[in-house]
Amino acid sequence: MDNETHFLCEAIELARTNSQNGGRPFGAVVVKDGEVIATGVNEILTTNDPTAHAEMTALRLASQKLKSPNLQGCTVYTSGHPCPMCMAAMRLAGVKAVSYAYSNDDGAPFGLSTAAIYEDLAKPFAEQSMTIRYVRTRLENQPDLYADWKRRQDKRS
Ligand SMILES: [Zn+2]
Repeated sequence: MDNETHFLCEAIELARTNSQNGGRPFGAVVVKDGEVIATGVNEILTTNDPTAHAEMTALRLASQKLKSPNLQGCTVYTSGHPCPMCMAAMRLAGVKAVSYAYSNDDGAPFGLSTAAIYEDLAKPFAEQSMTIRYVRTRLENQPDLYADWKRRQDKRS
């Protein structure tokens, strides 16, 4: 068994155990330099946290272990096709690669596909199902939020 298959099987085992315990069938492992540094399962039901997807849970733990929000050099192996939130979180964290064992097509018959959200997100804001509004707002008599942040950053370096 190659490494990729090995880690994907580990993600599926995590998902299977979570499912047996009443959770949703999703598990993920974060690997760096060939070693598992964090694992996660879908905990949205036990935590009432809609962001507690397996990948998010594993990313949080990996970041805590590495004491950095930067997960460059890490690969994520996950049981199911990552949803847009998890995909974006992995990108933001600098994860270099992701592999998944079950596709959205595999999940669709069971209501476990996020393909519809990907499709919706690919549309212009005005055409998406969620109302998204840019309402340009600034505090009076205060420095610009971003410019002020940049000034503080520059002062530190
Ligand atoms: Zn997700």
